[in-house]
Amino acid sequence: MSLLKEVILQLFFALTPFVLYNIYYRDKLQNYSKAFILITSSISLILAMTFASSVVDGIIFDIRYVIMFFGLVYGGIKTALILFIEFIIYRCYLGGEGTGVALLMLVCSFLLSVVIYKLYHKTHKKTFFTFIAGIVFSAVALGLTFIFFPDYVKKHLAYHVFVIPAQNSIGIWLLMTLFGKAIADKELFIAHAQNEKIQAMSHVAASLAHEVRNPLTAVKGFLRLMQESPNERAKTEQYIKISLDEIKRTESILTEYLSISKPLQERSEPINVSEQLHVIQEVMLPFANMHNVELDIQIYDTPVTIIANPDEIKQVLVNFVKNSIEACAEVQNGRVILSILIEKENALLMITDNGIGMDAGQIQRLGSIYFSTKTSGTGLGLTYSYHVIHSMGGTVQVKSEPLIGTQFTITFPCHAIEKVGTNLTA
Ligand code: ADP
Ligand code: MG
Repeated sequence: MSLLKEVILQLFFALTPFVLYNIYYRDKLQNYSKAFILITSSISLILAMTFASSVVDGIIFDIRYVIMFFGLVYGGIKTALILFIEFIIYRCYLGGEGTGVALLMLVCSFLLSVVIYKLYHKTHKKTFFTFIAGIVFSAVALGLTFIFFPDYVKKHLAYHVFVIPAQNSIGIWLLMTLFGKAIADKELFIAHAQNEKIQAMSHVAASLAHEVRNPLTAVKGFLRLMQESPNERAKTEQYIKISLDEIKRTESILTEYLSISKPLQERSEPINVSEQLHVIQEVMLPFANMHNVELDIQIYDTPVTIIANPDEIKQVLVNFVKNSIEACAEVQNGRVILSILIEKENALLMITDNGIGMDAGQIQRLGSIYFSTKTSGTGLGLTYSYHVIHSMGGTVQVKSEPLIGTQFTITFPCHAIEKVGTNLTA
């Protein structure tokens, strides 16, 4: 019975990387790194070796091969080598009668791991292969132990023939399968979150199409007037001027819309935040009009510059502004205000609305995967936005009260503030 407990404990240790992956990467829009594999594998290794299963003092068995193989597959050869050195140091530190054989086993198993790893990449039957790998590692351990301690092995034959192979095979199969599934899900989620951007922009596009019709109707009307009275020169000139202004405005909205919805390019440059807010106001105004919500802007004349990817900033702002407009859709006199403040060398971008607001529970869940209170919501807009802001060195704060409104404050370190003025433009 106590042996069974030890095996279960070892299997639990084997799952350390998987458990920590689910905790650490839960709301992250990125997949595992090699450093993560090394750290979690090391934790798993130390725990497994410290609380190893054993029938005789000094000869211990744990899931070290499972961890080594896992480290090799997900972390690469360098990670596996570091783990291998950790094994040796810690095994020598633990000491005991079986230390010499254990070191020999480690060297053999490490070389074998590299061979199995090469085959593992080529095979389609990965699950079956991991199971077999566990058996192979156990067979090596059994063979070498038998050469050096034949009497001990004969005495505990059942332990070596059944318990250890089961421990290794189930351990390796569980860890590789669960971890593999978790990272595949994460990849899918990342792709889904990228698509969210397209979905958000398609909502905006519907209102935009509506907005483009207005200047078209106006221009059509003026053309007709000119056709009816071609000799009134003064009036004709006035009509042409108004028409040209309307066309120019529509053109600029469409250009901005296209620049926001195009696929992202990796780049980082100084950008003028006020300019970006004006663009967002222009692009989101049709969406606000469609929902009967005012969209205002309050910014300093002074240029506030941050280092970021302008396309990403715009996409992030579209997400926040879209949420605020949606939150105001059902309230009377809905109003969304975009503003900038400068505080201690930081640029504070604020999106304030007087919409439905959120309670403490909802605020806490903001930015986590699939949290949405909307019937057709995806809950990915803010997850994506939080990720982008954090990866640019920014932070997000939220103040919200149900039925009163919400204020999101996005803070970025300023690149340069030429002069802090107090001229407000609205
Ligand atoms: P979605 O808009 O698809 O629901 P988001 O990630 O953009 O997903 O937003 C998640 C949730 O956060 C929303 O469903 C909503 O409940 C809440 N939320 C975000 N912004 C606001 C806001 N300005 N006012 C009230 N609730 C908000
Ligand atoms: Mg949203």
